[in-house]
Amino acid sequence: SAPLFAICGRPNVGKSTLFNRLTGTRRSIVGDEPGITRDRIYGEVDWDGRVLRIVDTGGVIPDDEALIPSEIFRQAQVALEEAEAIVMVVDGRSEIAAPDLELSRLLIRSGKPIFLAVNKMDTEKIAPQAENFRTLGFKEVFPISAEHGLGVGDLLDAVSAAM
Ligand code: GDP
Ligand code: MG
Repeated sequence: SAPLFAICGRPNVGKSTLFNRLTGTRRSIVGDEPGITRDRIYGEVDWDGRVLRIVDTGGVIPDDEALIPSEIFRQAQVALEEAEAIVMVVDGRSEIAAPDLELSRLLIRSGKPIFLAVNKMDTEKIAPQAENFRTLGFKEVFPISAEHGLGVGDLLDAVSAAM
């Protein structure tokens, strides 16, 4: 079947918004409603003549456990088992948080192709701020705006080339 990549990251960074933009559906629920989506959510994107499968790993974390790092890491571990590549998403408008550091270490250590998407870079002007996240240890950093679609094409080109 088509190669699978996973979208990982702590809650509220925009994983589901990215998933929805890529898949063009509302299969992954975005928002602040308590207790939404308990399941991993799968979708597909047609990219450059190929079909890629995507899993949004955020869905199973209930809001009241949302900031418990162990749950984020459990999700990441499942993603590493099943996916060929991982996109880690961070919120470019917030500081690097401890779970971001731990998650990036876990992912990079796996040896799989891992890409860092610095989200919420809604204008060209603030996109260079994404460079601040290079300290997480990624070779390449992709400033994106999942909401407006900026930078998403470059990110997918890189992911697709690695799978
Ligand atoms: P998740 O918990 O990681 O799945 O995050 P969501 O996709 O549910 O998004 C969390 C919040 O961030 C929502 O209010 C989104 O509208 C907002 N958001 C997501 N992507 C962007 C973006 O590119 N720019 C801005 N400004 N907000 C975004
Ligand atoms: Mg989500």
